[in-house]
Amino acid sequence: MIPLVKPEISDDDVASVTEVLMSGQLVQGPQVEAFEQELAHLSGTRHAVVLDNGTAALVASLLATGVTPGSHVIVPGYSWIATANAVSLVGATPVFVDIDTGTHAIDVELLAECCKNMVAGGEIPMAIVPVHPFGYVADMIAIEEIAARFEIGIIEDAACALGATLEGRPAGSIGQMGIFSFHPRKVITTGEGGALVTNDPSAAAFARAYRNHGQTTRDGVRRFDGPGDNRRMTDFQAALGRSQLRRLPATLEGRRSALNRYVGALDGDLVKFQEFEWERTAAQSAVATLDERIDRDRFIGELRRRGVETSVGTIDMTTAEHFKGLDGRWSPPCDVTRDVAARSISLPLWSQISSDTCGEVISNVLQVLDEAETNGCIRD
Ligand SMILES: *Cc1c(COP(=O)(O)O)cnc(C)c1O
Repeated sequence: MIPLVKPEISDDDVASVTEVLMSGQLVQGPQVEAFEQELAHLSGTRHAVVLDNGTAALVASLLATGVTPGSHVIVPGYSWIATANAVSLVGATPVFVDIDTGTHAIDVELLAECCKNMVAGGEIPMAIVPVHPFGYVADMIAIEEIAARFEIGIIEDAACALGATLEGRPAGSIGQMGIFSFHPRKVITTGEGGALVTNDPSAAAFARAYRNHGQTTRDGVRRFDGPGDNRRMTDFQAALGRSQLRRLPATLEGRRSALNRYVGALDGDLVKFQEFEWERTAAQSAVATLDERIDRDRFIGELRRRGVETSVGTIDMTTAEHFKGLDGRWSPPCDVTRDVAARSISLPLWSQISSDTCGEVISNVLQVLDEAETNGCIRD
């Protein structure tokens, strides 16, 4: 079976982790700090704070922005549920804005309209959280302009976009804050892990305290004067992250090449890929939208039968039980989100996927489409 993903762990990765495991210092050691410096350097930000996962980094950045219970935060409808869950975890309410049909990132016209409606109604959103879907950077130029016009902060959900750039600016560094995830399905992995990057020293200080029970020291005295949790990353995870980061250029090259091949061979009427630009995506996943005539479940089943694992893209967050019935007066229903979520499909992709394996995926997809009339993948 060609799997959907393969976490790539090199001998160097194993050696780095072993070294920390044998060192006697498993947490709060030098690896976390070194990993943070490297991440900040890569992102072109002054600060990076690593946490135990990307969702925790989102929560920390929302709190650092001053998002309070009862306030509102704008998110796209189409993302992994963590984006909206983080907003509700801090007691705020997500306001869902639909996505663009080409990029599958937040639709900037609807975003501007939503901000206008909210401000006119006296409900100023506390933040905009644009998502870079599958590592492809959202239209941040327009989003920055809108955010500046309405004086709203931006937190980039760059969970999948480590290493992607927009006009030379690294994903995560464009908003006031950005977050990354290092889950095994993301660009690099620490098992579980995440980071917040920012140029704002007080946001970084907040996140550092927050992940460590709200603890700070002033004049040598330990204090607890802010909210806290234990969201620390271990030192052996940070060592793994550092080792993986060293290979990032090759990782990105491999991911982008594979995605580029899929787009070149498969993009068409029946299978339509998201917009693709080499530097602008970290190619976290190879996601395409199937034509509405294709029965996705059958399509996935048929590929599985042939030894190719695929899965759905990401989800329509507005349909989650706890987000049903939210006030929809500021933005129209997320129809594009609903449609794309129902038709998206993710193909096998990892950085060292061979051209043979890519070719096998491609020929199987083409065959399934070819035989669609007989194998039941095309709906009548
Ligand atoms: C993976 C992901 C997250 C959450 O990251 P975790 O490390 O799994 O907590 C948040 N947002 C998006 C868009 C993601 O893909």
